[in-house]
Amino acid sequence: MLELANEQIAMGQTAADKAEALRLLADRLVADGLVAEGYLQGLQAREAQGSTFLGQGIAIPHGTPQTRDLVYATGVRLLQFPDGVDWGDGQIVYLAIGIAARSDEHLRLLQLLTRALGETDLAEALRRASSAEALLKLLQGAPQALALDAQLVGLNLPAEDFDELAWRGARLLQRAGCVDSGFAAVLQQAEPLPLGEGLWWLHSERQVRQPGLAFITPQQQLRYRDQPLNGLFCLASLGAAHQALLERLCEVLIEGRGQTLYQATSSRAVLEVLGGEAAPDWPSVRIVLANPHGLHARPAKILAQLAKGFAGEIRIRVLDSAQPAVSVKSLSKLLSLGARRGQELELLAEPAIASDALPALLAAIEQGLGEEIEPLPNTAAPVAATPVEVLQAPAAGSRIQAVAAAPGIASGPAHVSVERDIDYPLRGESPTQERLKLRHALAAVNAELQALVQRSDKAIGEIFVTHQEMLADPALADDVELRLAQGESAAAAWMAVIEAAARQQEALHDALLAERAADLRDIGRRVLAQLCGVQAQAEPEQPYVLVMGEVGPSDVARLDPTRVAGIVTAYGGATAHSAIVARALGIPAVVGAGAGILLLAPGTPLLLDGQRGVVSVAPAADELQRALAERDQREQRLQAAWAQRHEPAVSRDGHAIEVFANIGESSGIDKVVEQGAEGVGLLRTELIFMAHPQVPDVATQEAEYRRVLDGLGGRPLVVRTLDVGGDKPLPYWPIDAEENPFLGVRGVRLTLQRPQIMEDQLRALLRAADQRPLRIMFPMVGQVHEWREARAMVERLREEIPVADLQLGIMVEVPSAALLAPQLAREVDFFSIGTNDLTQYTLAIDRGHPSLSAQADGLHPAVLNLIDMTVRAAHAEGKWVGVCGELAADPQAVAVLLGLDVDELSVAARSIAEVKALVRQAEYQTARALAREALQQDSAAAVRALVERY
Ligand code: PEP
Ligand code: MG
Repeated sequence: MLELANEQIAMGQTAADKAEALRLLADRLVADGLVAEGYLQGLQAREAQGSTFLGQGIAIPHGTPQTRDLVYATGVRLLQFPDGVDWGDGQIVYLAIGIAARSDEHLRLLQLLTRALGETDLAEALRRASSAEALLKLLQGAPQALALDAQLVGLNLPAEDFDELAWRGARLLQRAGCVDSGFAAVLQQAEPLPLGEGLWWLHSERQVRQPGLAFITPQQQLRYRDQPLNGLFCLASLGAAHQALLERLCEVLIEGRGQTLYQATSSRAVLEVLGGEAAPDWPSVRIVLANPHGLHARPAKILAQLAKGFAGEIRIRVLDSAQPAVSVKSLSKLLSLGARRGQELELLAEPAIASDALPALLAAIEQGLGEEIEPLPNTAAPVAATPVEVLQAPAAGSRIQAVAAAPGIASGPAHVSVERDIDYPLRGESPTQERLKLRHALAAVNAELQALVQRSDKAIGEIFVTHQEMLADPALADDVELRLAQGESAAAAWMAVIEAAARQQEALHDALLAERAADLRDIGRRVLAQLCGVQAQAEPEQPYVLVMGEVGPSDVARLDPTRVAGIVTAYGGATAHSAIVARALGIPAVVGAGAGILLLAPGTPLLLDGQRGVVSVAPAADELQRALAERDQREQRLQAAWAQRHEPAVSRDGHAIEVFANIGESSGIDKVVEQGAEGVGLLRTELIFMAHPQVPDVATQEAEYRRVLDGLGGRPLVVRTLDVGGDKPLPYWPIDAEENPFLGVRGVRLTLQRPQIMEDQLRALLRAADQRPLRIMFPMVGQVHEWREARAMVERLREEIPVADLQLGIMVEVPSAALLAPQLAREVDFFSIGTNDLTQYTLAIDRGHPSLSAQADGLHPAVLNLIDMTVRAAHAEGKWVGVCGELAADPQAVAVLLGLDVDELSVAARSIAEVKALVRQAEYQTARALAREALQQDSAAAVRALVERY
């Protein structure tokens, strides 16, 4: 984060003109290692686009998006020019603040500066400042304004005594971001001050971030220290920010008007008496800010200028912040919002100008305020906006080539399941009525969830149990209650609280907690639908094709698998969650078909081929017939394959390949063997860890691994050591947030940093082995030394716990491991290629990316070449190679992998029979020719076309 410090300031500089001042700044930024040479051009280009003069003798030169790559580290450097530098248009700069920032971090700085900008004679004071300390004080020392707005007023709140009322006041201040969580405790220790008329005052300066005042009145009559307790002021005190307010309050009390406060029925009435910020009851619109660096100086300037063209007041606020609305016409106020990309803004305009001003401002923000903007992912369209993108539903007879996700052919009417906006009133009938409505809605949703728990299997059922717990969360209930008491409708109160809680989760930058945010929004919507009487879309009578944006596991759990013939998603790729879940359920699926698919009319006949990744819209009768005949043949083939599932997979010309299973839990191992597995080729142990509420100890782990080995009855078990970190955190194992977790501390990198956990796991594995064949492999190895460190640990433990049949290997899922395969092959016993990650890292496409992951195809010739290199290197040293990524189960890939001489394929248990059958149909010599040709292709699509021709 950008903060100001003495060392960043150079006092008493001189520059003949702006160009020289910029040069001095750039030199300083380069010398201090913040930016590369060449950043000066960025500063110049930025000034050419528009002056960075901020007012009050301050300019904030910074680079352009094109020079962002030259920034090594975020930071600022300040140069004081006591003689002033002409910044153009007669504006004189005494302090130039050079910013090196890659993203919107500088908004925090602007926010800080704008507080100082309100000071009337700041420019002169900056010019005269004689030391860095003095200058810094000028920038930071401006008093912060007291926060007092509708959020900080709580009327008729349930409270049994003074302490509870004080606690509620502290909560309001905390929610508004004025205080830290310990404030409630310090407030309890403060000495209450009676103000008269049953009004009381409490204050503390500890744990305060920003000065703020909360006012709370109790629902029932209370007394405290033998006096009435009609209302309580809780002050988060910082400096003299509350002085003016206190004076005004004294006047009100002297005039004997205290009851206007404690008998008030709306926060507006309270704020009017106290002179706080009441949100005006003006027409308003909302829009999500899409500017890459938020509302920084340049776009803010354009917005302020536009607003000045209207003869009336226009205000703006950031919806999820405690700050009151500010005038759009004031540049410094706009900057003080610190609005970031993705935050929702509300614009309010006086009724007389609203119909002209609001659409004009909205359009300007939508168009980027002079900047290029990237559309935001998954944001609702602005309330009064015109549609930006014109999407069309695919026409009847069209064929969409998307991504094959789960094999099989399905047909049926489209059941398009898209979240639609639900309108709801903001104000309620009465708190009692609204409370009752909410209680009924919560009970109904709870019953729905209970039904889902009962009909789901254990893992998915747990998702709904968590949802039930969220529904009953007392902290949510408290916050909703506060809002209901202020007259909000049940729907508005509920949604505001859910949204705030979800945002709080997301702000923690933790993948697991971010998932919790999605869960919160999920239950939020369910309750809202109940409150507003919105029925879930009726499912078609006959088996249908489900069309969705993306399908998460909880969506799938809600499906009735006997009625869902197939799944088509608009977004996602073959290794996306939706695809893996669909495969596990055996439902044909095609993913990444594009957003247009969501516009299909309900009931449109669809035909999908989950093997080729094709969706046909309203197909002609003969096409449908052909496909259905193919489906029947496939059914028959699968039945025949099932009958031979225990036979080995040997090609027509006698080449054998082993077919193993991928598993993530120890239970159900018998079923896996029953489905034809010749062993387990990948035990994802992190799933075992995740199923425990804390790190399982050695004995617990040993029992789990023993269970798998027992079930395998002498067949080999390939275990992967814990693969967490990055995007796969363990709830009980806090990992620092990383900007790019896929390239961060994950897999073996992480476990080597926590040797105790790794050692415990290895000890449990060795103990469980007895005389059975155990293979241990390490995930995400990218460097030879990582492998050696991990191997050394096993060898040390092996002296303590001897194991008869043990092999050690690595997962090849980082391109460097494949490229170093010749070196590694001398030392490992085997390789197992994780094509999911190998594809991701080779093609530089996040495997879960909403739009790109469709291109992360493991049949890409670049990935195939890495597989080929790995196999050749291993075989040269007499070592074996398995493939355990999703590619191994892709029907189009089986012959290619056979031809590349892979020794083992490890796939989801459900796919074993089919993969074995595909090997039996193939001819090894032909597959080798196919593989050689595939290595020469230039795209995954070309490889797939080639496979079709063979
Ligand atoms: C892989 O990356 O291919 C793999 C099997 O590991 P995971 O999918 O668990 O990351
Ligand atoms: Mg992996």
